[in-house]
Amino acid sequence: MFLYLIIATTLYSFPLILQAQSGQTAPTYVVLVGPPGSGKGTLSEQLTQQSQLPVITTSQVLKKLLQSNTVEAQKIKQQMAAGELISDETILAIMKTEISKPQYAAGAIFDGFPRTLAQTDFFTKNQLTVQVLVVLNISDEAIILRMQGRRVHGPSGRVYHVDNRPPKTPGIDDVTGEPLEQRSDDQPSVVESRLVQYREITKPVINWANQQAMMTDGQVRQVINLDANQSVAQMLQSLCQASTTQNSGQLGCPAIKPMTTPAT
Ligand code: AMP
Repeated sequence: MFLYLIIATTLYSFPLILQAQSGQTAPTYVVLVGPPGSGKGTLSEQLTQQSQLPVITTSQVLKKLLQSNTVEAQKIKQQMAAGELISDETILAIMKTEISKPQYAAGAIFDGFPRTLAQTDFFTKNQLTVQVLVVLNISDEAIILRMQGRRVHGPSGRVYHVDNRPPKTPGIDDVTGEPLEQRSDDQPSVVESRLVQYREITKPVINWANQQAMMTDGQVRQVINLDANQSVAQMLQSLCQASTTQNSGQLGCPAIKPMTTPAT
């Protein structure tokens, strides 16, 4: 399966490069970066409604591929359950295949990618520009509290919280009526190692983005830092306020009302 992915990736990369070189309207790519439990999933759900850009959740793409019973699939399942990162080679291959699907022609919101410096090659090597890279900032203590109450609906990836975002019936998914579960990688000991992993392996992606945003032709146009302690509505509002005029349009932000002339 993985050999197939690598061949497919090579074939699929050509249209991306040609599109970048031919001067067609570039797709809008938005990247959400933040520690586990910082609200990337919840923010992407709202942002997709506002912007009409589809979301690519890396862990959901991985899960679809893992329905096969190969040794590699079993290994990836175990790594995901233990909160370990999957190899860059595998992730790059599946993401290139995913992004080449027609539903992402106008762009996409990436939830959970890139997560390592090596994964930023996806943008640099394919000459794809990230319009906005959003960083969700939150303390480790707040994350640990959030993860304890997090429940998910496995098949869809819908996320709930027992206190802050409860389902209509405790333990049951609102849409399908199926049971919710606590992810094995949301257990406190696993969360702590995922936080260390975020600091050591994923934070360099933010430095990369800041450097790119300072360059005239960098692969990232704008980096926006958000306080992830806010509600999702407040985060969306802060995002729109901080966006450049062009990005604000692409993110589907409400147009700023023209200032009314003060009464004399
Ligand atoms: P998430 O739901 O984003 O916390 O991801 C769950 C798990 O999927 C992670 O702990 C990793 O095992 C795997 N994963 C998701 N995205 C990536 C990525 N970009 N690179 C490597 N592993 C990933």
